[in-house]
Amino acid sequence: MLIVFIGPPGAGKGTASRKLLDYLQIPHLSTGELLRAAKQSSPLGRLAAQYMDRGQLVPDPIVLSMVGEELDKPAFSRGCMFDGFPRTIQQAKSLDDSLRQRGTPLSIVIELKADEAELITRMLRRAATEKRVDDTPETIGRRMEVYHRQTSPLLDYYRKQGLLVSVDAMGSPDDVFELIRAAVDKKKVTVESAAG
Ligand code: AMP
Repeated sequence: MLIVFIGPPGAGKGTASRKLLDYLQIPHLSTGELLRAAKQSSPLGRLAAQYMDRGQLVPDPIVLSMVGEELDKPAFSRGCMFDGFPRTIQQAKSLDDSLRQRGTPLSIVIELKADEAELITRMLRRAATEKRVDDTPETIGRRMEVYHRQTSPLLDYYRKQGLLVSVDAMGSPDDVFELIRAAVDKKKVTVESAAG
């Protein structure tokens, strides 16, 4: 299965996809984590860091080449959960092209719907424990604005493809996980019955 998570910063995409990982046994691909890991280790990573630290999106070509390299790894041959990718229409189109070539279309796109004021509180709490440089009040505001402007158009893009399922992300991590699991199970039945 190939699953995409979309939601504003702080909505719990990472937590939800890690919980689903135990359930589905397919790997998790977080572009935010990949970019943070590349920060110290490559010139491209250092370039990407300049955008991340300002709360802006890293340019599409950098993200796309990084994701392409990951998807070629054998670990991803049975599918994966994309967390924080795609984040622009250009990334979504490029993902569609590459999945078409591989003959493995997306199974479901899960939107985590959340209240923004609550999200900002959650992110400031996370900043205190994880010390992420992009979790300052200023960058949080910018990342929220970037989500609305560049990422939220993806909701319509995937709705038109019949792939979008929206889930209330304001409950406890366990409650949110149950909603996601129900949506994924329903999709699995549809996919399996279509396959005969
Ligand atoms: P995240 O951990 O998903 O919240 O991502 C942290 C930061 O990494 C974002 O604010 C962006 O600067 C960058 N980033 C992560 N994923 C992408 C992506 N798909 N496209 C562009 N920038 C990204």
